[in-house]
Amino acid sequence: MYKKNDIIQLEISTLGSEGEGIGKIDGFPFFVRGAVPGDVIEAGVTKVRKNMAFARLIRIIMSSNDRVEPTCQYFGKCGGCQLMNMNYGAQLGYKEEKVKNDLIRIGGIDKDTVEKAAQAIMAAAETLHYRNKEQYPFGTDKDGNTICGFYAYHSHRIIDQTDCLLGNKENILILEKIKEWMKVSGVTAYDETTGRGLVRHVMIRKGNITNELMVCIVINSKKLKAAELLVDMLKDIEGMTSISYSSNTENTNVIMGESSNVIWGSDHIDTVIEGNDIQITYALSPLSFYQVNSKQTERLYSKALEYADLKGRETVWDLYCGIGTISLFLAAKAAKVYGVEIVPQAIENAKNNARNNNIENAEFICGAAEEILPAFYRKNGQSPDVVVVDPPRKGCDKICLDTIINAAPRRIVYVSCDPATLARDIKYLRENGYELKAYTPCDMFPNSYHVETVCLLSRKDPV
Ligand code: SAH
Repeated sequence: MYKKNDIIQLEISTLGSEGEGIGKIDGFPFFVRGAVPGDVIEAGVTKVRKNMAFARLIRIIMSSNDRVEPTCQYFGKCGGCQLMNMNYGAQLGYKEEKVKNDLIRIGGIDKDTVEKAAQAIMAAAETLHYRNKEQYPFGTDKDGNTICGFYAYHSHRIIDQTDCLLGNKENILILEKIKEWMKVSGVTAYDETTGRGLVRHVMIRKGNITNELMVCIVINSKKLKAAELLVDMLKDIEGMTSISYSSNTENTNVIMGESSNVIWGSDHIDTVIEGNDIQITYALSPLSFYQVNSKQTERLYSKALEYADLKGRETVWDLYCGIGTISLFLAAKAAKVYGVEIVPQAIENAKNNARNNNIENAEFICGAAEEILPAFYRKNGQSPDVVVVDPPRKGCDKICLDTIINAAPRRIVYVSCDPATLARDIKYLRENGYELKAYTPCDMFPNSYHVETVCLLSRKDPV
């Protein structure tokens, strides 16, 4: 039996669900962060459980052919990226395998069916600077200096850095200005342990094609002090369109507060999606969800549209619709689209987006899908032809799935950011009359372990 501090030699054979290297000795698996399949390494055991153990990479004895020098100097310390030490082809292979294995193991679908349904992953053209949004936590170092950056892996320890290579190039300048503002106006960073200090997070977003910039600072107070000075320091940055703050005085891991207040410029930025002869401009508020990789989003939604196979007569439900991104994309090809979303600001955005793009056949309803949907279906009675769902990581609520099953649409297009909950929900849908026809993973998050997937399910016996 192994114990803590044992030194082992290990050949890494595969990657775990969060991109950790896994190697086995006599069938017993060790999880080693930063190790790449094909590496032979020396590692120190850090924790032993009944069926697995964790170890720390000490030395690479023989390097994997897939190993590359990470572009970012913070790789390994920062928790943001996990795969930057692997060549891009190998990253894509890992993501394809992950989706496939989850569909087989968690979804209980036989290998043949999964392989027949699988389409190649949509690779990203840009693996750096692809993120249109970042949220930087703020804190104070042991010498009393304000720091900001990203959390270390599975912790709330801030790695001080303003130049994340995945983010917008303007982020550095904005963050440095905010730090300077804090210094001259005596504003302190929030401290999670004491609950004191003002600045918790800074969120920066940039619009696709428009290049409009939004800054929202999340504060531990109802009101932002020295707001005028902050505005003075930020407003002349090229592209600056919206500066706001959001109050969050709760002791919580949730980043944004419940509302936001504009202190300069507009309450939103515009972002554009182009694809399939459709161009739509979306207004985006600080609290609204928007996919972080604009270029890959266009491809993801084009795939969703292809799977929806609309001819122009259909009624479509778009559940978890955010600012109506997918809904409006589908509306051009459908008779009627209903979008359902829980965040009121996002629904406001969605309604305005429909109006601004002269789309008249999309209607948006605010509320939890699992609450709105059963009542909506009972009242309205009409079954949709196609249902699109794009839930957060925890997947669809069971009541929501049951309502969809009752409504019996011909097709379900499932867009997912977590293959495990996707597989769980597909299992349930397959047990209730649907079959998996096709799926395409999409690399929205190069250099991280995350993968997006779009799936087509269709009814076995159309009613
Ligand atoms: N389809 C959109 C948003 C997807 S993200 C897009 O592609 O941009 C998931 C969305 O689900 C978020 O906007 C979140 O606010 C919303 N959401 C979370 N829980 C929900 C629920 N129970 N009912 C409806 N919407 C929910």
